[in-house]
Amino acid sequence: MKTAIYPGTFDPITLGHVDVVQRGLKLFDQIIIAVADSSKKSPMFDVQTRLNMVNATFAGENRIQTLSFDGLLVNLAQQHQATAILRGLRAASDFEYEFQLSAMNRKLDANIESVFVMAREEYTFVSSSFIREISSMGGDVTTLVPEVVRPYLPPIKDKR
Ligand code: ADP
Repeated sequence: MKTAIYPGTFDPITLGHVDVVQRGLKLFDQIIIAVADSSKKSPMFDVQTRLNMVNATFAGENRIQTLSFDGLLVNLAQQHQATAILRGLRAASDFEYEFQLSAMNRKLDANIESVFVMAREEYTFVSSSFIREISSMGGDVTTLVPEVVRPYLPPIKDKR
């Protein structure tokens, strides 16, 4: 049984994240979505709300487990017998950060492999920060997030 852990802030979860998970399910038997506390990033949604959104997105999918965490990712992976860390890549701009992160995680535990997948082209520009920014100004981003996330976003302002 191959298990991967997919860590992130998910503030909020987007269809880009969902696409990454779906690709991961082709490679692994089980995926653990680990919602990072990330309080230093001052997230828009508290960790329990972010976890609730992730749970609602994948309700009924028995190959997906979810949890929240605020410790070291490699320790969490070890606890759950995960052999891989799943991450997504969008543009070249993601590379530098992901490169450093995977090198650091490898230093901490050489047995855990980082695996990167690219989401569908139409999601390459989708990020949680973009969703937060546009929705806070009343913009309509509903087609970029799972349906269950829509009620959590600020109301859409009429253009007229
Ligand atoms: P973090 O704070 O750990 O970067 P995020 O929730 O922003 O958390 O992202 C988690 C992972 O999902 C990262 O590897 C990020 O690159 C990836 N990701 C997010 N959105 C997309 C997308 N639209 N396409 C591909 N990967 C994505």
